[in-house]
Amino acid sequence: MPEFDLRFSKEQIASRIEVLAAQIDRDYAGKNLILLVVLKGSLHFASDLARKMKLDPPIDFIQLASYHDDTKSSGIVQLKKDHDMTIEDRDVLIVEDIVDTGLTLEYLRELLEARRPASVSCVSLLAKPDAHQREVALEYVGFDIKNEFVVGYGLDHAEKYRSLPFIAVLRNPV
Ligand code: 5GP
Repeated sequence: MPEFDLRFSKEQIASRIEVLAAQIDRDYAGKNLILLVVLKGSLHFASDLARKMKLDPPIDFIQLASYHDDTKSSGIVQLKKDHDMTIEDRDVLIVEDIVDTGLTLEYLRELLEARRPASVSCVSLLAKPDAHQREVALEYVGFDIKNEFVVGYGLDHAEKYRSLPFIAVLRNPV
């Protein structure tokens, strides 16, 4: 049986998301917002965040890969699925699960900037400031964490643990 060291409970996550949603609602009032959800790790975060927001923006998805079923970044970012809606002249808010090295976010920002959006910003539920290899802008962060591998609430280890309601460190990965 897997054992977990809890980092953030369901309740802590929910109350932080309420604060982020209110902040984003305020900052994007009157703007042409689109939420761009980065698959797959952000699925629960994006769903809860969008439903706490009052703005009801359009939502699209993009999928990138830099992890290959282990707990270390390969350092190479690949585009696996592009978004469908146009982002030209729109205020894009990237919804990320976690910013680790920052390589994925750097790649994504460059890709999107070339498509002439009005603006690009990012909200990430988690960030690992000690692991950042890039000075990449991150406008909204749920929680800063140490440089350790976490699972749950969308975050997987080899496609497991995404549906845990909390965020935790895996003691004995199986
Ligand atoms: P970066 O490019 O910033 O190094 O990594 C971004 C991606 O790596 C995240 O979107 C996530 O999919 C994965 N990742 C980074 N750290 C963790 C972690 O602690 N746990 C899990 N499950 N995935 C992580």
